[in-house]
Amino acid sequence: SNELKIAVGAMEIADKVVSDVMTRINDVFMLPDTTILNARTVMQIVKMGYTRIPVYTAGDKNNVTDLLFVKDLALLDPDDNFTVKTVCGYHKHPVKFVMNDTPLPCLLEAFKKGDGHLAMVKRLVNSSEHDPAYELVGVVTLEDIVEEILQAEINDE
Ligand code: ADP
Repeated sequence: SNELKIAVGAMEIADKVVSDVMTRINDVFMLPDTTILNARTVMQIVKMGYTRIPVYTAGDKNNVTDLLFVKDLALLDPDDNFTVKTVCGYHKHPVKFVMNDTPLPCLLEAFKKGDGHLAMVKRLVNSSEHDPAYELVGVVTLEDIVEEILQAEINDE
């Protein structure tokens, strides 16, 4: 049955980790917080088709500080020329972070508890230092986990 196949798919994510299913950082559509939201940029953002967009500060893509929800742009007057920073400061959608080697069942639990359903994926760069450094390697959403569960079902057919 389909139910059984989906259950098998759910078990098959047990030995997978976040980096197996994430969208890689080079493919992630992000914006600097300095972006001015005029008619042209809002159009470009909407055309990308994503629900949520990671926002970085100080020109550093490793420094993601906010999430911009595209729906927050709906009531914006493009002639006001607000920046992404202003809009994010108003809505304040917190960014979640997860390590690249987190098992998928753990991420699924975290997504079930929270409301975000999107996390930035970080990787430890140097563990030898007292102050560990991280770099962002991708983005992962609930959709990526569901996709993986259903993919296992399709492969089985
Ligand atoms: P959306 O609603 O924006 O389509 P989903 O949660 O349905 O987002 O995820 C669909 C796919 O898009 C997933 O593979 C996810 O990793 C990826 N994704 C989500 N947001 C972005 C983004 N800003 N840039 C690139 N990929 C993204």
